[in-house]
Amino acid sequence: MANLLNKGKADKPLLEVKGLKMHFPVRQGVLMRAKIFNKAVDDVNLTVHQGETLGIVGESGCGKSTLGKSIIRLYKPTGGKVIFEGEDITHMSAKRLKPRRRNIQMIFQDPVESLNARHTVGDIIEEPLKIQGIGDTASRKKRVLELLDIVGLQSRSTTRYPFEFSGGQRQRIGIARAIALNPKLIICDEPVSALDVSIQSQILNLLNDLQREMNLSYFFIAHDLAVVKHISDRIAIMYLGKVVEIGDGDEIYKRQRHPYTKALISAIPIPDPHNKSESIVLKGDVPSPINPPSGCTFHPRCPFAQDICKKEVPQLREVGDKGGLPHQVSCHFDL
Ligand code: SF4
Repeated sequence: MANLLNKGKADKPLLEVKGLKMHFPVRQGVLMRAKIFNKAVDDVNLTVHQGETLGIVGESGCGKSTLGKSIIRLYKPTGGKVIFEGEDITHMSAKRLKPRRRNIQMIFQDPVESLNARHTVGDIIEEPLKIQGIGDTASRKKRVLELLDIVGLQSRSTTRYPFEFSGGQRQRIGIARAIALNPKLIICDEPVSALDVSIQSQILNLLNDLQREMNLSYFFIAHDLAVVKHISDRIAIMYLGKVVEIGDGDEIYKRQRHPYTKALISAIPIPDPHNKSESIVLKGDVPSPINPPSGCTFHPRCPFAQDICKKEVPQLREVGDKGGLPHQVSCHFDL
């Protein structure tokens, strides 16, 4: 993947997210008149290159899934831009967006909910081809069989229903549907979180194989850094709607700079009994994005917070690079 990334770096990014905001209005007060906003995604800047996997990590409620859904336009962003293949798709009409959708697909966390229980597996996988008006019935059926084979399912699955499959098999069905149109980018929204650990690695290996064969790019959302490390070229850490650290995957893992990233990494169990590194326990819960703390939103939980942290919002700044990939962190201090 690293070679693909280095190749991609020289080219224009496949996806550019510029100052993206997704603020949901919330009514408050006795008469529900006061309008405030849930700043689920707040000024996020990211890029993804062809063949690259960008991992997005954070606790639940940090805005990572909302970010993914805003990119694929399941939500209409309230600010900023989503640029795909050099074209601004942020406010594109559904009609103009439809042909572009062939190149951006999504895999969902819960295959049970994302697959229509009343449709056969054949119909589910064929659906995107039908929507895009590709081929005739015979050629689509042939493509469905091909896709089932690619994701490791038997051809007789076409006439069966999602409930007849295990969790891992259902996720394979979701993947077959997502790659049916030969997309360039797949938003993977916690695709292995609902699966047993043994099945997780099978699905991650399948995604890796598909990436190699199809030169796919992944926007890989997860709350588990260990999972993200397995698959990502670069990793972005999100906290309360903002990216607080981003860089090469190994660099984030070995030389992370933001106290929040340090806490997430310290919580990953290490299989080595001689390694006694202590996990950093953060105080309190993630604050509400409706009323985020002032300054650095992490300050109420940060063991290194100073006065300035309550007053001034730290900007993402470069603290190094690895192989030309910038390592950026939003913290007032060099920790
Ligand atoms: Fe902690 Fe301050 Fe850095 Fe925020 S800016 S992460 S509160 S030290």
